[in-house]
Amino acid sequence: MSEAVPRVVIVGGGFGGLAAAKALRKANLEVVLIDRQNHHLFQPLLYQVATSVLSPGQIASPIRGILGKQRNTTVILGQVTGVDTGRRCVFVDSVDRTGVAIDYDYLILATGASHSYFGHDEFEPFAPGLKSLADAVSIRNRILQAFEQAEAEEDPKRHRDLLTFVLVGAGPTGVEMAGAIAALVRNALRSEFRRIDPTSARIILVDAGKRVLGTFPETLAVAAMRRLEKLGVDVRLGHGVDHIDADGARVAGECIASKTVIWTAGVAPSPAGKWLEAATDHAGRVRVQPDLSVSGHPEIFVVGDTASLDQDGHPLPGVAQVPIQQGRYAAKLIRRRIGGHAVLPPFRYFDKGSMAVVGKGFAVLHSGRISLSGFVAWMAWAAVHLEFLAQSSLRVSVFVQWVWTYLTGQRGSRLIVNYHESRSWAKPSIHDAASKGGNGREQ
Ligand SMILES: Cc1cc2nc3c(=O)[nH]c(=O)nc-3n(C[C@H](O)[C@H](O)[C@H](O)COP(=O)(O)OP(=O)(O)OC[C@H]3O[C@@H](n4cnc5c(N)ncnc54)[C@H](O)[C@@H]3O)c2cc1C
Repeated sequence: MSEAVPRVVIVGGGFGGLAAAKALRKANLEVVLIDRQNHHLFQPLLYQVATSVLSPGQIASPIRGILGKQRNTTVILGQVTGVDTGRRCVFVDSVDRTGVAIDYDYLILATGASHSYFGHDEFEPFAPGLKSLADAVSIRNRILQAFEQAEAEEDPKRHRDLLTFVLVGAGPTGVEMAGAIAALVRNALRSEFRRIDPTSARIILVDAGKRVLGTFPETLAVAAMRRLEKLGVDVRLGHGVDHIDADGARVAGECIASKTVIWTAGVAPSPAGKWLEAATDHAGRVRVQPDLSVSGHPEIFVVGDTASLDQDGHPLPGVAQVPIQQGRYAAKLIRRRIGGHAVLPPFRYFDKGSMAVVGKGFAVLHSGRISLSGFVAWMAWAAVHLEFLAQSSLRVSVFVQWVWTYLTGQRGSRLIVNYHESRSWAKPSIHDAASKGGNGREQ
């Protein structure tokens, strides 16, 4: 590639970063996409990994594989730690090096969000959130382990605590998780235990708001609420959690004993605002200009969950369509600037609607004037989610799994996998003893 070719650095291979990179595939420039994970993750289906419907490999694809045929694009596995806007470079930590500077002519930051515990970070060890594949596998372990622990527990008085699942936050993720745990206990686990009755599990969904699915129209929130109640979910609204520790959660003065509390509430943006020393909104998201650039830096764009932009007096929602459309827009703008063409009109988000699943074969859907709930909405949800998976192989695999799960109730990946604890219960094997010189000591 000639030295005169401008370089676009994209940080983040999520929805926004990937959309931008794909939209630059035919441009005469060099694209460098940096992500701290080697995979693009389809977050909307994370809850299905956490509840054993799908396995991690069915909702994530290597970024290098997705962009493998894009000749102008280099993928780098590394964590960006800062931006020098004067020198026009980002700093990257990789496996064996720190602070490596990568220069850019244009920069697109699409670094997403992480959990926010609303100032109570001490809750985190007891109430994991759901954001990455590792989070989903860890929550899956906790849920399945609770049933195993209860089955092994002779004292029936302890069964209730072990089989109480508390979900904090009744937005789409909390509602979907609650419905999926209810389906898990009613179908897959129902007949497999002898000492406990999995259907006796308590699923408690807590939210400080007055209704579930606060961003959906009232009628759909009511439909979702009825469905949750039908599934046996105990929905407690109007009070947030006051405290969470190893013994459970305290809600409105009541201590709910539980070994499995899951955080499905707030999100906090990445530190992109701090890297740029740019203006941010109250949540810490970078305030971007109508063309998604950062004030005073027409060469830097911020898109997706880590950007803040109002449209018609309302902030854009934290859903996947926003980063996808913004990533494409930023890429198009860069292409036009490089080609010397007229600038684009300001970015405008086209709202395709929102959906949430509530247990088996039931979803709520809101798009424009259409509000739907029930099986048809669930079919639409399934079709849309299949369409947006990153690769055809995943679409086929997820479709087959869903049909199988729907017909048989069986789950795709009901495994407890403690990656870091594989040796914790194991006595030294003959092989171990031999490798340690026969006496079990390191040599
Ligand atoms: C559990 C869950 C369920 C959801 N369900 C839905 C849904 O049903 N429908 C919907 O529309 N939306 C849903 N969302 C929201 C949607 O997934 C997000 O809005 C979307 O992923 C945001 O896209 P993004 O590109 O801004 O960030 P992300 O997709 O989060 O991508 C950010 C990328 O940046 C990388 N990164 C972050 N920091 C760095 C760094 N310092 N250096 C290098 N790389 C970095 C990350 O590894 C990641 O790959 C859900 C989100 C979650 C967590």
